[in-house]
Amino acid sequence: MVRADRVCKNFGALQVLKGITLEVKRGEVLCLIGPSGSGKSTFLRCINHLEQVNAGRLYVDGDLVGYREKNGKLYEMSPRDAARQRRDIGMVFQHFNLFPHRTALENIIEAPTRVKNLKRADAVARARELLDRVGLADKADAYPAQLSGGQQQRVAIARALAMDPKLMLFDEPTSALDPELVGEVLGVMRELAASGMTMVVVTHEMGFAREVADQLVFMDGGVVVEAGNPREMLANPRHDRTKAFLSRIL
Ligand code: ATP
Ligand code: MG
Repeated sequence: MVRADRVCKNFGALQVLKGITLEVKRGEVLCLIGPSGSGKSTFLRCINHLEQVNAGRLYVDGDLVGYREKNGKLYEMSPRDAARQRRDIGMVFQHFNLFPHRTALENIIEAPTRVKNLKRADAVARARELLDRVGLADKADAYPAQLSGGQQQRVAIARALAMDPKLMLFDEPTSALDPELVGEVLGVMRELAASGMTMVVVTHEMGFAREVADQLVFMDGGVVVEAGNPREMLANPRHDRTKAFLSRIL
């Protein structure tokens, strides 16, 4: 579902991604960990083309992200095609980024009605299903400010799911939450994973990574230092940098 082949990304002279190669199969969950500034968010942003890669290739569901390939040459995609590609990818951020002046329900139906031209009644019915799925059936008419951080993040997940994405990206979805609210969000993500969703999750919740992830990837300085089965890697990290990092966060 996601294939990164020697992906590089620079910001001016700063090399942030220095050749990331990895693969996430359909239905798999990959957890990405690494120190601050190692390029985790940048990599996620490249997957849905919020950032353009400078070298290497990224494929989502077999399609090259952001470019068309013709006779071995790359041509930039039209903004319209890029938008179409991006709408199959759901993204959930650390800060929930809900529209503050819209209710939970209105937040969820916004993209399906505007981007997919879904009829309002159909979008509302689907939004209610999704709210139920994230345990918030009774909060349809609440505004973000009336919800806890954990509830807001669950609305944000429902909003991403409303576009029927084939891939979900999570960038530290629980790190802005009070500790007692982390579990409810991880619970929703766990169910999503069990339902077969393909997910790439930047997180330092090692319990989640151990139990849910099919692959754990440790990034440092823009490279993949170590990747593998989460249980094996957490029990027995091979690289000194992985050991040092894990000893700091565990
Ligand atoms: P954190 O754990 O703090 O979220 P991260 O691994 O997600 O870190 P990134 O946000 O990907 O790290 O940033 C990697 C590097 O790229 C940092 O040095 C950052 O300052 C730089 N960077 C990110 N975005 C930009 C940008 N738009 N312009 C310039 N530099 C950027
Ligand atoms: Mg980040």
